[in-house]
Amino acid sequence: MKNFSIRNRLLIGTALLLLVTLLPPFYYFDNTLRGDIMNDAEDRAVKGLDTVEHILKEYALPADSNELDARLTRLGERMGMRITYIVDGIVVADSNVPIEDIPSLDPHGGRPEVRQALDGETGLEIRYSTTLKKYLIYVARTVHGANGLQDGVLRVAIPVSVAKERLDRLESGMTWMFLVVILASSLIAYFSTRPLLRSIIELASTAQSIGQGHYNRRIREYPGTEFKPLVDAINGMAHNIEQHLSMLVDQKGRLEAVFNGMNEGVMVFDSAGRIHSFNKALTTIFPGIEQKIGATPIEATMKPELHRMVIDLIEQGEDESGVRTQMELSDSRFFEVNLVPFKDPAGARRVVAVFYDISERERLEKVRRDFVANVSHELKTPLTSIKGFAETLIESPPAKPEQTATFLKTILKNANHMTKMVNSLLVLARTQHKGEMTDLAPVDAHEVIRQSLRDLSHTAQAKNITLEDMLPEGPLSVLGDRDGLMEVFRNLLDNAIKYSPAGSSVSVTARPHEGKMALCVRDQGPGIPEKAKDRIFERFYRIEHPSEPAAKNGSAGLGLAICRRIIKSHGGDIWVESPLDPATGTGAAFFATLQTAERQNADKPE
Ligand code: ADP
Repeated sequence: MKNFSIRNRLLIGTALLLLVTLLPPFYYFDNTLRGDIMNDAEDRAVKGLDTVEHILKEYALPADSNELDARLTRLGERMGMRITYIVDGIVVADSNVPIEDIPSLDPHGGRPEVRQALDGETGLEIRYSTTLKKYLIYVARTVHGANGLQDGVLRVAIPVSVAKERLDRLESGMTWMFLVVILASSLIAYFSTRPLLRSIIELASTAQSIGQGHYNRRIREYPGTEFKPLVDAINGMAHNIEQHLSMLVDQKGRLEAVFNGMNEGVMVFDSAGRIHSFNKALTTIFPGIEQKIGATPIEATMKPELHRMVIDLIEQGEDESGVRTQMELSDSRFFEVNLVPFKDPAGARRVVAVFYDISERERLEKVRRDFVANVSHELKTPLTSIKGFAETLIESPPAKPEQTATFLKTILKNANHMTKMVNSLLVLARTQHKGEMTDLAPVDAHEVIRQSLRDLSHTAQAKNITLEDMLPEGPLSVLGDRDGLMEVFRNLLDNAIKYSPAGSSVSVTARPHEGKMALCVRDQGPGIPEKAKDRIFERFYRIEHPSEPAAKNGSAGLGLAICRRIIKSHGGDIWVESPLDPATGTGAAFFATLQTAERQNADKPE
């Protein structure tokens, strides 16, 4: 029954209903009517028989059989019946058979009603008469002692009934009508269920399309009010799914934005340890990773240790703790990698790896290590010297006082060198501590330079070096920190005097440069080799000039580093041009650019 369509069920149901409602009453009425008709016909036949018998007995009858036949024929016509008189089984007269045909009639002694009559009863038989081509009721009775009539059997036959024929016709008519009604009701059921079925099919297809992901679709029309709860449920379900979906899409979008906006590279591995997804930052860490979806970690990163860790984490089973490692990539970038296992909705174990760029941290750590090593190294030499001379003075003091003075001078020189270096380191630390940009205020650079020249005039005189202030007359207003600028020019002038040959000159000039003021300290010293032009601004970097060895002049290689840091914190630039005299390959010019105070005013909004 499950596989029957609603339409077929309706058709079969209607047919069965018609059968159940129409057949029993029809059968009942047919039977009752038929029974009544038969009883009535039998009564009429018996009454007819009585009447004919009475007539035969009461009125004289001709002995001539021809006359008898003629009388019975007239009587039969009047009474509307067939009257037959049978003697010894032979028909002697019959109202419906011409006299000349009577001898050819079959013997009637064997007829059931005749035999019953011969037995002394009123015989009765209903039979189809081939002579009259209709059903007849035959009643027969033995007749004794009728007037002038030989004893025999009187038989009367009347048609069962016209009603019975009508009943038969009605029966076949009813059968036809029944078939037609079934056919008609089937057609009505077929056509009346068409719109219903169409609506149901439409409803089902909308529900199916919602199920396939078109959550914005709704069922608007339905076959009947009975379907309303179902339709409301489906529409409600679609609405809820649509809302949850949009929430999920929104959350996914936000997560993706976070995922791709992260500075850290993120790589997600599937349960087989293959790359499943990654974020944008990872593409900068591993260029070309876009083509490596589905690849193993070793294929994508060429890092066997990463591959091993991912596989270990996946195979570890229930352990939820992750692992952390550091790795260096081929381009000298350092990464801290955090690998954390997790379970996906299917319960499979997967791994997410986060790559955190620690290159800068590593670089700073290296700088710190180098710095400490350099400082220790720089301090170690003078300290060893001081310690050595001091021990000599204590354990075996020199006999001559001049020698003692030489020892003490050496100790003092080394102590001065250390003091200078510690001071330089403090200045460097201070400028570092101040951060990138210094608070700038208008400063007269000309005044600062004049002061620096004054401070170093004795040193210059000692070497017979002429200091030339070639700046234009009047103040030179720049933006800066006075102390910082003083430190810069003292260092530059000090170096220029230190490395210049005796009798030469050191000059200070100024010229505009790319919208700023470039101040220049020029000397006629040994100059700076091409390869060292950038490096002299690094901490502890020194050039060994044969004329002026670092060991002798106490150079620690920090002065220019301090200058660069201060100038950078002023938003300026520092560089060296050398040689100034191509013929001799000598001379150096140190440039430092500074913002002019007017320019800043001009930049300020009104
Ligand atoms: P320090 O503070 O010890 O003098 P600097 O950082 O100032 O060290 O200088 C670094 C190196 O640059 C020095 O060792 C020196 O060899 C070289 N240098 C600096 N100024 C000059 C210059 N005017 N002429 C030649 N060499 C110089």
